[in-house]
Amino acid sequence: MARYQSAPRLAFEAAAIYQYPEHLRQWLAGLPSLPGVYLFHGESETMPLYIGKSVNIRSRVLSHLRAPDEAAMLRQARRITFVRTAGEIGALLLEAQMIKKQQPLFNKRLRRNKQLCALQLNADKPEVVYAKEVDFARKTGLFGLFANRRAALQALQSIADRHQLCYGLLGLEPLSRGRPCFRSALKRCAGACCGKESLAAHRQRLLAALEESRVVCWPWQGPIALREQGPDRVQYHIIHHWLWLGAVDDLGDAPALMVAAPGFDSDGYKILCKPVMSGQYEIIDLYEQA
Ligand SMILES: [Zn+2]
Repeated sequence: MARYQSAPRLAFEAAAIYQYPEHLRQWLAGLPSLPGVYLFHGESETMPLYIGKSVNIRSRVLSHLRAPDEAAMLRQARRITFVRTAGEIGALLLEAQMIKKQQPLFNKRLRRNKQLCALQLNADKPEVVYAKEVDFARKTGLFGLFANRRAALQALQSIADRHQLCYGLLGLEPLSRGRPCFRSALKRCAGACCGKESLAAHRQRLLAALEESRVVCWPWQGPIALREQGPDRVQYHIIHHWLWLGAVDDLGDAPALMVAAPGFDSDGYKILCKPVMSGQYEIIDLYEQA
């Protein structure tokens, strides 16, 4: 589609195309300046080299040239294709799904993480719970998410540092009964371990600090549709328990995507939590149709 472009923009494009590896230039012509996912393919018909997303496929693909560590990928690439989405949410979701399924050689960051965990308060002590043991979409009182146990404990420690919480009471270090922890002498612990602060107040401050990172349970009875209006089209994202079931142009096609009670999806959660909870998008409850 024809879109207005400024002179500097066109000059940048012309320069970028001129510098692009010659064997790939023919694929640049058809790339739209619109949202979606793009794929660099090598010799393999089935396994792409790299999958990326952008709200502007064209300028993002052209910009790949500028990073030197991408030269190897471009050398191996034989063609460039794309899949359009209405907007950024659709591009993020589709990119995550495609990378998970196809595991391209040059994508590393979204590889499936089996150690995904959260913090849970057990009595007053936070403990690490794992996505493979606890259903994060249904269980309340979870905080996170974290890539692994070490990351969860590091996050807890940095919360303790920022809020002068007690390492001993949090289980981050051993505490001998009736003796203040080492950090309280340094004024880094407000003193819940030695009576300078009540346990209730300590717990309250811990909860408030954790609140920033609470995992939101699925607040509906069934699947929903989130309406995303892009620059040139609308898509409805069908979501259940934070799992993206796919996108449809027409809500009438949604039932085909719906599955009963899917498991928690951490990629979906990370991408969708903000837009779903923000109130900025129209949400259609699809429970009756499920
Ligand atoms: Zn202490």
